[in-house]
Amino acid sequence: MGDAVSELKSRLLPRIRVLNNQPINPNGSFVVYWMTASRRFNYNASLERAIELGIILKKPVLVVEGVSIRHKWTSERVLTFMVQGLMRNLDQFEEHKITYIPWVENHKDTGDGLLRRVSEKAACMIIDDYPTYLPLWILNRASAVSKVRLEAVDSNGIFPMQMAGKAFPTAHSFRRFVQKNLLDTFQSTPLKNPMEGIDTDLRVPKNILDEVMDETKFEITPLEWMWRVAEGGEVGRTAMQPLEIDKEVPAVDSKPGGVIEARNLLEQFLEKKLYRYNSDRNNTENGASSGLSPWIHFGHISTHEIIHSILIRENWDPTFIDEESTGKGSRMGWWGVSEPAETFLDQIITWRELGYNFAFYNKNHYKIESIPDWAKKTLSEHSHERKEKYSFDQIENAQTDDEVWNAAQRELRETGMIHNYLRMLWGKRILEWSATPEIAADWMIKLNDRWALDGRDPNSYTGIFWVMGRHDRAWGPERPIFGKIRYMSSANTKKKLKLKKYLSQWS
Ligand SMILES: Cc1cc2nc3c(=O)[nH]c(=O)nc-3n(C[C@H](O)[C@H](O)[C@H](O)COP(=O)(O)OP(=O)(O)OC[C@H]3O[C@@H](n4cnc5c(N)ncnc54)[C@H](O)[C@@H]3O)c2cc1C
Repeated sequence: MGDAVSELKSRLLPRIRVLNNQPINPNGSFVVYWMTASRRFNYNASLERAIELGIILKKPVLVVEGVSIRHKWTSERVLTFMVQGLMRNLDQFEEHKITYIPWVENHKDTGDGLLRRVSEKAACMIIDDYPTYLPLWILNRASAVSKVRLEAVDSNGIFPMQMAGKAFPTAHSFRRFVQKNLLDTFQSTPLKNPMEGIDTDLRVPKNILDEVMDETKFEITPLEWMWRVAEGGEVGRTAMQPLEIDKEVPAVDSKPGGVIEARNLLEQFLEKKLYRYNSDRNNTENGASSGLSPWIHFGHISTHEIIHSILIRENWDPTFIDEESTGKGSRMGWWGVSEPAETFLDQIITWRELGYNFAFYNKNHYKIESIPDWAKKTLSEHSHERKEKYSFDQIENAQTDDEVWNAAQRELRETGMIHNYLRMLWGKRILEWSATPEIAADWMIKLNDRWALDGRDPNSYTGIFWVMGRHDRAWGPERPIFGKIRYMSSANTKKKLKLKKYLSQWS
């Protein structure tokens, strides 16, 4: 049976990695998909693969969406956003006749204990492939404990991470790879509706499900509790009160998680912002960035969906591609779409997927070791010029003498986001103010992973280490503390951006 599955010519193969040597269990009750990163129904290659295997093996499909509260940066903010996503998924899976169990991990049990027990009942197992933080940790635990064949499936971006074969050092080199290989990725694009054309009812029969739940000691998270958490505000806080999570980082009521909210935001972006994305992206007033990163980070919306919507609006087809510039890595003109769309595609494909590429091939991607040698050297040459300007507490509480920086930090604390351009300045000033580059990296990670809704993402570490020269080049003139690292200052930012409203909002 295992061989039949291995030999199957699935169009998703470029996105699949088999993680263990365990066999398929022909007596297993279902194919289980352990959802950890692509937390959605649409454009989800893991789900599509689970359905494909369910049909080949003639087994129903069980989807378990787990939410851990035992990781380092668990907080009211993160938990609320994720549970709001679960509630949306419940409706979607119900509609498409797939058994879906949302599960918030409690303190009595650990996810990997449950995962092992569920695997004992399964024919085979699918998990989301993801290159960092908790989903990577769960993936590694799953490889160690699964009693049946385990496949990791990659829905992270247009390019399956394993396709590149190596880490790219710069956006330019990755863009060249993107241009040469884009069309090849289309064959493994996940379907919008993974149940398209499938009449089979893939739900796990109730008697089997009850038996399995009982035997695996799978304690279902009460729906009523999840509903209260998703409600947010005081209701949500009260529901989360018994949990040992970071309660100083509250939910952001203006940013509810879930696919519906993500699609609303995407619609607004397409209608009101995309056409001016290239000129207004950096503006703090009426800016044109999408604000989608939290929903992208939690997998509530796929970048396939976003990119597809844009290409449809641009009436794009592959004949638009400028073949002469293929592989040259130029930022503009290759796609053959409008300039704003071209700029956006470069951010959401080249820059975003460069972060996934780097994290996948570099286990130190979240450490200062990952910055290039020239950056290490120049920071070291200027280390004697450093002096700690503020303590971590002063920084975390936005108590510096820099009003622009304080405003950005307050925005982060209150909304879980920092405006695109100011996020770069935010990092650069932490690099300038801390006693060593190592401390700067540590503080940036602590602040971003704790407060940002889109934190703990491959691109959290791309952004943070870009501040220190990763994926960048050496710049002149050489400056104190920064050396050849690209410099940014609040004074220049004030000249470049209109900040009056922003500062009054966040002072
Ligand atoms: C210090 C620092 C920390 C950062 N931390 C994070 C983080 O925790 N999570 C995160 O997703 N991004 C991070 N970034 C990258 C970038 O700032 C955000 O992706 C972007 O601001 C998100 O806003 P948006 O969704 O409105 O972006 P838009 O401009 O609307 O872009 C759409 C999407 O493209 C991707 N994207 C855009 N710009 C970049 C970029 N420069 N690098 C990588 N991907 C990009 C994101 O997925 C984004 O949601 C960080 C950057 C810096 C300098």
